[in-house]
Amino acid sequence: MIPFVDLKKQFGLLEKDIRARMDAVLAHGRYIMGPEVGELEEKLAAFVGAKHAVGCGSGTDALLMALMALGVGPGDAVFTSPFTFIATAEVVTLLGATPVFVDVDPQTFNLDPAALARAVGALKAKDPAAHPLPAGYEALTPRGIIPVDIFGLPCDYDAIDAVAAEHGLWVVEDAAQSFGATYKGARTCSFGRIGCTSFFPAKPLGCYGDGGALFTDDADLAELLDSIRVHGKGSEKYDNVRTGVNGRLDTLQAAILLPKFAAFPAEIAQRQAVAERYAAGLADVEGVAVQRVPEGCASAWAQFSVLLPGGREAVQAALKQEGVPTAVYYPRPLHLQTAYAPLGYAAGSLPVCEDLSRRIVHVPMHPYLEEAQIGTICRAVAQAVA
Ligand SMILES: *Cc1c(COP(=O)(O)O)cnc(C)c1O
Repeated sequence: MIPFVDLKKQFGLLEKDIRARMDAVLAHGRYIMGPEVGELEEKLAAFVGAKHAVGCGSGTDALLMALMALGVGPGDAVFTSPFTFIATAEVVTLLGATPVFVDVDPQTFNLDPAALARAVGALKAKDPAAHPLPAGYEALTPRGIIPVDIFGLPCDYDAIDAVAAEHGLWVVEDAAQSFGATYKGARTCSFGRIGCTSFFPAKPLGCYGDGGALFTDDADLAELLDSIRVHGKGSEKYDNVRTGVNGRLDTLQAAILLPKFAAFPAEIAQRQAVAERYAAGLADVEGVAVQRVPEGCASAWAQFSVLLPGGREAVQAALKQEGVPTAVYYPRPLHLQTAYAPLGYAAGSLPVCEDLSRRIVHVPMHPYLEEAQIGTICRAVAQAVA
């Protein structure tokens, strides 16, 4: 079987440096907020082009802390994509606010800015005929937008920012899958009020456990986030000044990320080369499409997506026979998941993401995928859909 994500190969290449950085932590013993956390934050901020980086416990913590810092709570509507991992919307409901799901573009799979504008207008006009709205919409106030850079591809931030500016909404970027990607020359995590990413092992930049980070240019927000991640700490140790969380990035995870981050720019280039080989290898396969990368964007290629004409299960089974593992992200869009049944979204209400969820499949993607393996995978796809 070709590995779907090959973390072992990368560890083999970086083992000496990773072990040395881990050993240094074991020697100094500052497991909580040790010096490696600050060192990593400085490097990440410089890479992203943001003034401040705040390490945290996971991508989910990053999103949760961002919304806490922006004061999100009951009665607030947050516009987001239904074609994402549950964490994007989970943090909204966790704070008592309500997600308003907006359909995605059929080619980029990212939030459709025209649909976003319609959804905000519909909520302001309290008119669910103009765009599907969640139960209880009558009592909701539009507050913000969480665009998700799905599979590593940046959203159309110019168009999204224009909608946000027109309606006085904030933008929090869910860049959990897109760390290292660029949009019109700027890195992801630099868009919106706050950018959030994840260092879950299988993400483009992954640690060996859970980890994440937030980015902002706003010094006050960065200070607020620093307080929220340590139980709402103030300047006096046992006088906490707000409700926070235990949201710190472990020192050991920061130590693991430092050598991985040094190798990361080269890995992003390798991911790009893999994606180009896939696109070329699948270009002539009748009936299949790949995620469209708009002009001016570079994806971090967290996943390589193939859109099939149909018959996904048979294609997956045929690929497995050829030693090619596959995965499906996401077989059920968020508005149709059981947890969101109380919002009352009907099947068919957001047709683009519902169609994608039936036809999408993902093939192995990591920086160390070899040309011959990509050839094997492309031929197996061509055969399976023939
Ligand atoms: C992985 C992921 C998250 C959550 O990150 P964790 O580090 O697993 O908590 C959030 N949003 C998206 C789009 C993700 O892919």
